[in-house]
Amino acid sequence: MKIRRNDEVQVIAGKKDKEGKFQRGKVHRVLVAEDRVVVSGVHMIKRHTKPGRVRTQAGIIEREAPIHVSNVMLVCPKCSRATRVGFRFLADGAKVRVCKRCGEMIDKQ
Ligand SMILES: [Zn+2]
Repeated sequence: MKIRRNDEVQVIAGKKDKEGKFQRGKVHRVLVAEDRVVVSGVHMIKRHTKPGRVRTQAGIIEREAPIHVSNVMLVCPKCSRATRVGFRFLADGAKVRVCKRCGEMIDKQ
């Protein structure tokens, strides 16, 4: 998986925000088995819930729904542009992600 938790990503499909731009947000969950990510503030869905035994609060709850990884691009923390991700092996054998635009390593040592 090229996207990890706490990455900043740029959404590249679907609805745009009020300024006509695709949204950016932080990944707060990665669903590896489904190739999906949950991005904070992106793809909000409304759920109508009734009070029950587990959930006491009724009403309409807004929450994020998972989106497919192919619909997001990683935002490079170094050049802050949406980029494709490459991999590089370090001398000690560690595999790190690199930005395809600026060539910088994305993962901290
Ligand atoms: Zn970069």
